[in-house]
Amino acid sequence: MTVLVTGGAGYIGSHMVLALAEAGESVVVIDNLSTGFSAMLPEGVPLFIGDAGDENLVEGVISQHKVESIIHFAGSVVVPESMRDPLGYYRNNTMVTQSLLRAAVKGGVNRFIFSSTAAVYGNPDQVPVPETAPTRPLSPYGASKLMTEIMLHDVASAHGMNYVVLRYFNVAGADPEARIGLATVGATHLLKIAVEAATGQRAKIDVFGTDYPTPDGSCIRDFIHVSDLAQAHRAALSYLRAGGSSVTLNCGYGRGYSVLETVETVKRIAMRNIPVQYAPRRPGDVMTMVADTSRIRGLLDWTPKYDDLETIATHALAWEEKLFRERGGLAQQAESA
Ligand code: UDP
Repeated sequence: MTVLVTGGAGYIGSHMVLALAEAGESVVVIDNLSTGFSAMLPEGVPLFIGDAGDENLVEGVISQHKVESIIHFAGSVVVPESMRDPLGYYRNNTMVTQSLLRAAVKGGVNRFIFSSTAAVYGNPDQVPVPETAPTRPLSPYGASKLMTEIMLHDVASAHGMNYVVLRYFNVAGADPEARIGLATVGATHLLKIAVEAATGQRAKIDVFGTDYPTPDGSCIRDFIHVSDLAQAHRAALSYLRAGGSSVTLNCGYGRGYSVLETVETVKRIAMRNIPVQYAPRRPGDVMTMVADTSRIRGLLDWTPKYDDLETIATHALAWEEKLFRERGGLAQQAESA
């Protein structure tokens, strides 16, 4: 009864592996370490360094470890980068999953949990956005994930697989004990940028777009704590093990905060003024993205524990401070510059 986590050394994947290990599950990880770090894995969890799209590798891991379920995180996640490099996104997100699914089918794995994204919706007609909303992605990132959802649906129907697609809203925060967190250098996500600024690693924050028709003119996002998200995957796994049928679920809290409010929250928690610069809209950005969470709350045994932006920001900041200290602070940054 082993769970294979692809991308398990990455940001969300490592929180998943920690949650599984703490629950006493047998876990194995495949990660090519392109953005992940082996140090993020708990001791004793086997790591295979390689591509989730390497069929031979995956088939070997499935048979060697008697894998019964796959939780698939490996992929690329940055909207603006996908606008510049669509082919890279279709390769890393869509083609890799095609190979992974082929290995899963060959190996007889019939439970699959897939990391999708709210970016599949594009600009929604209604907010909070339900899973039944039309899918009109505005970026290759969203499109590459949507194509994978469609492929997974077809493969599952043909080969007796059951899946849960989890459409993540904005994942943020870090392990509440600051053991792990987002460690990517050059990260672009808002809360990461904000805590980097709060720890003096950035001089300012650019706010992309202040002329949207929202109350303060900036975009609105539904932030979900990464540890709550990991627990949602555990609940999805229990659901599939209990014979639950394939389903697509939004993962958010159902509450939106504007970009400016988010920056203010980090400033307040860090007790530090962070200069904010108003910048033009960022291509590919959706204006307002808030989840309708009724389906996940009705179907899974999942109760979020950190459903609060201040808590998310506090954990993100505590992790960032630790990471910054461990990386040697500003002195080392200057030396390597
Ligand atoms: N954002 C911003 N400044 C930054 C990073 C992000 O204003 O330095 C905005 C971005 O334009 C979007 C929101 O914050 O409106 C969330 O962006 P992020 O990249 O964190 O996640 P996304 O919603 O694109 O997945």
